[in-house]
Amino acid sequence: MREDLDRRIHDQKVASEIMNIPDDEWEKYGDNYVDPFKNGERVSFFKVFCKGVESEERIRDMKVIVGGIGVAICDSKDNLIFKVSKGIDVGAEGSSSNKSCEGVSVELQALIEGLNAALALDLKNLTFFVDHSMLYQYVTGAIQTQNSKISTLVNQVSLLQKKFADCKPSLVACSDIKFAFRFAKDAVVSQITWPADNGNGKGKGKLKETCVICYEDTDAYQIFSVDGCFHRYCFPCMKQHVEVKLLEGTMAKCPHEGCKSEVSIETCGKFLDPKLVEIMSQRKKETSIDVTEKVYCPISKMLSIDVKK
Ligand SMILES: [Zn+2]
Ligand SMILES: [Zn+2]
Repeated sequence: MREDLDRRIHDQKVASEIMNIPDDEWEKYGDNYVDPFKNGERVSFFKVFCKGVESEERIRDMKVIVGGIGVAICDSKDNLIFKVSKGIDVGAEGSSSNKSCEGVSVELQALIEGLNAALALDLKNLTFFVDHSMLYQYVTGAIQTQNSKISTLVNQVSLLQKKFADCKPSLVACSDIKFAFRFAKDAVVSQITWPADNGNGKGKGKLKETCVICYEDTDAYQIFSVDGCFHRYCFPCMKQHVEVKLLEGTMAKCPHEGCKSEVSIETCGKFLDPKLVEIMSQRKKETSIDVTEKVYCPISKMLSIDVKK
């Protein structure tokens, strides 16, 4: 908790520092942008990436639904200038209890947070990026909602949009908003970890987290986070999962039901025997070679790669 608080205070400081940059410095800084001319005026464009997530997690033997929002504000050269990583209350049931608008409410709250931050930074022209197609359709007015909670949030977004000179939405792939996604997931994790109690009251900020497969309380640094989706599992569970897949002769995907994220070989060294990591990379090479180019040595039955010159 203390660490989390320190981090928040730090983030707050950074935020106020950015906001306190005097105008003339902003102008100097602004000169570094590739500034397109618009109606003969110099215009700086910014990108606001927003992501809201909610996920079912476990704290010891308790099932909880946790929400997190992530915002990344970048300049036109994709330098990160401001971030938000903040937990939000999604209620005991989570917003997904209503299937028709699953996750939309958290996404809208992330958007509102992002636009408010952009407003506080006094940005005039921006594009905000989201990866949730229903959210995109709500904010562009392509579809309307009967849900009063959602429509209140949608209205809030459109009111905020009007406060900028230029503020347009853009629908992109999940991988294009990975910063914001990461920050949202960080916010989720900070709510499901707790300081270890080693008996003398000096936890030294070591955090514990419950693995959602085995329900074991594990040191947070012994939790593996899958690239791309950030689903988290303890090292022993990941080891078992990847080993089973290796025996089946397939590449390991994230253990989360329905998740298609691949477990990249380079990241497996944390929990896997180096020999198995080698087998995995060999297999990956094999699957990436066209079948017609595969030549097996008749004696060793080993694959040799026929490199065509
Ligand atoms: Zn586990
Ligand atoms: Zn996953």
